[in-house]
Amino acid sequence: MNAKSLRRTRADSIVPQPQSQRRRKHRIVVLGEEGVGKSALTIQYVQNLFVDYHDPTLEEEYTRLTTIDEVPVELSILDTAGQDEVARLREQHVRQADGLVLVYSLTDSKSYERLHRFATLIERTRDYAPVPIVLVGNKDDLVRDVDAAEEEGRRLAGNMGCPFVRTSARLRRGVDEAFAQCVREIRRQERICDATTIDSTPTAKLLRRKSIRMIRSVSRRIKRSLSRQQ
Ligand code: GDP
Ligand code: MG
Repeated sequence: MNAKSLRRTRADSIVPQPQSQRRRKHRIVVLGEEGVGKSALTIQYVQNLFVDYHDPTLEEEYTRLTTIDEVPVELSILDTAGQDEVARLREQHVRQADGLVLVYSLTDSKSYERLHRFATLIERTRDYAPVPIVLVGNKDDLVRDVDAAEEEGRRLAGNMGCPFVRTSARLRRGVDEAFAQCVREIRRQERICDATTIDSTPTAKLLRRKSIRMIRSVSRRIKRSLSRQQ
């Protein structure tokens, strides 16, 4: 047996893992205003360190192999950067994302108000289809226990029907939770999708109609609640 066939034999003899145990790959895109801590959060999550300064114009992709709720997963995380000059690129990222981590800073009300822009971008780009999102209020170490900025974030997340996580990239608080919640949202929506596309029973059809109605009403509520606050 030559080396080539030996290699093939070894590869062929790998026992296939059950579907639930296979490492799935998800692409997560981190979005938010400049300075809210997107890079600090991403680098803390992937490399376990806090960076005091990160070039705000740098857009980088990181990979992390991990296990969430006992299911292995490979995450590719895109830390976005830049403003209008890369708007087109940002649209492309949103289109290709499996999940979004939408970040604002608890210390900067403008960064919260500008979530409106991101909500509109997501809506338009994904054509009202459900997108797994987690809303993150960062720089928790700089604010009091519970403050108005957090309450606004929780309310908005409630309207969007997505989880809210308060984080401190500096102290590594809530960081794992934010990304884990994003993966849970991806999995949850995949389950809904599977149930509605494969299954054509009356229950599945009802679920599909309900979820389309829900997406439309959530999208209307986000717009209403953000425009009320402006
Ligand atoms: P980005 O433009 O959204 O990527 O923001 P950066 O990650 O570059 O962070 C902007 C500034 O905020 C930097 O000086 C960071 O050190 C700081 N920063 C980021 N996250 C935190 C945090 O959780 N707590 C504190 N105190 N500072 C933070
Ligand atoms: Mg950055």
